[in-house]
Amino acid sequence: METVNEFKLAQQQFDNVARLLNLDPEIGEVLRWPLREFTFRIPVRLDNGSLRVFTGFRVQHNDARGPCKGGIRFHPAETLDTVRGLAMWMTWKCAVADIPLGGGKGGVIVDPVSLTVTEKERLCRGWVDQVWKNIGPRMDVPAPDVGTTPQMMGWMMDEYSKLSGQYTPGVITGKPVGGGGSLGRTEATGYGVIYTVREAMKHLKIDPSKSVAAMQGFGNVTQYAAIGFVEMLGGKVVCVSCWDRDDQVSYTFSKKDGIDPRFLQSITDQYGTIHKDKAREAGYEIEDAEAWLTKEADVLMPGALGGQITGANVSKVHPRVKIVAEGANGPTTPEADEFFKKNNIFNIPDFLCNAGGVTCSYFEGVQNDMNFYWSKDEVLKNLDDKMTSAFHAVLAMSEKEKVYMREAAYMIAIDRVVQAMQLRGWV
Ligand code: NAD
Repeated sequence: METVNEFKLAQQQFDNVARLLNLDPEIGEVLRWPLREFTFRIPVRLDNGSLRVFTGFRVQHNDARGPCKGGIRFHPAETLDTVRGLAMWMTWKCAVADIPLGGGKGGVIVDPVSLTVTEKERLCRGWVDQVWKNIGPRMDVPAPDVGTTPQMMGWMMDEYSKLSGQYTPGVITGKPVGGGGSLGRTEATGYGVIYTVREAMKHLKIDPSKSVAAMQGFGNVTQYAAIGFVEMLGGKVVCVSCWDRDDQVSYTFSKKDGIDPRFLQSITDQYGTIHKDKAREAGYEIEDAEAWLTKEADVLMPGALGGQITGANVSKVHPRVKIVAEGANGPTTPEADEFFKKNNIFNIPDFLCNAGGVTCSYFEGVQNDMNFYWSKDEVLKNLDDKMTSAFHAVLAMSEKEKVYMREAAYMIAIDRVVQAMQLRGWV
């Protein structure tokens, strides 16, 4: 698999759209780089008494429209450039979803599976100890991402509250329900993907009940995207995939007549790894890592990590594919994008497609501020409204300017951020 530098990719995408928009290069210089970056060491006492020092990051790309917002990823291959790229995409994501927040992202270089529960707690608290003065409900509000969980957000919120001397649930989102979290957050990103797919199908006149999807990953995003595709749209999902820690490879789990996402969810661990033997027993075929990409499907939904569909593998995509719904952040490289454009494949770009998570996080912050909590139906209804109107704003821009959906989404987002910077007198 080709390695992709997420920051270079985010800058490349930005530069292309800045040219289309005739953006003043001086303003472009502000937006090509994060405003603030923190790299720090986190000493953690392990259960066996030894001390291990981890490297942590927090990057604040732009906060012209409101406090920075973005997840914290715990991953062994985490780099500052990954965090920078993801922080930049968060700025565009919040702007395109039209929520009053900016873009940030954080991370730690660690395989969370290698830690015990108590070690994880100390690492989470240690991360907050290093940056607590630079985050806060009116400054920068982190959230979970790959490798982090609601429980971890609960510990981080508690640490911040202790250090700041007051209960501050709004410092972090994605907290457990009952601990300041919002109902619907678990489903929000995956369901949000499906709301945009539903609207794309209406636009392309595809009957959802006869449609087929192939998905990558089986973590938080893909689990609920698969459930939504089957239960809300009445379509069929023929495969999902996951990283297998024991074998150190990823596998595709497929079933021609359609997978049962709720069953697969019941045999999947908290890191999104499906139990191979139980899946095999239930009649699932276990194929290689890239099999998901080659399936005969109407919708491809990458929902694992960045850089998965590249110039090297995009030609394996089945000619039936009509929609690429980017559940993951940065799954498609520019070369693969060119292939999709040439083949007239409709793209729902990552920062629009997966904006359901951050939109619900915004709702969580609003509920924390009000100290009044909404029902799940209310959350999901508000989420659907926000995602649907964001999708149609991007579609309208794409039709008006005759540009691809990714460029249209960038145009809307960049324009909103530039306007906020101008209104504040920054540029
Ligand atoms: P997760 O940690 O819950 O799950 C990740 C899944 O991807 C797991 O099933 C894992 O086994 C699988 N995976 C990891 N490496 C893989 C590989 N090389 N090949 C195939 N599968 C692999 O993560 P998540 O929360 O579902 O996030 C997935 C993607 O969506 C990430 O790009 C993340 O940044 C993005 N995203 C997540 C949210 C959210 O709310 N969770 C919101 C927006 C964007």
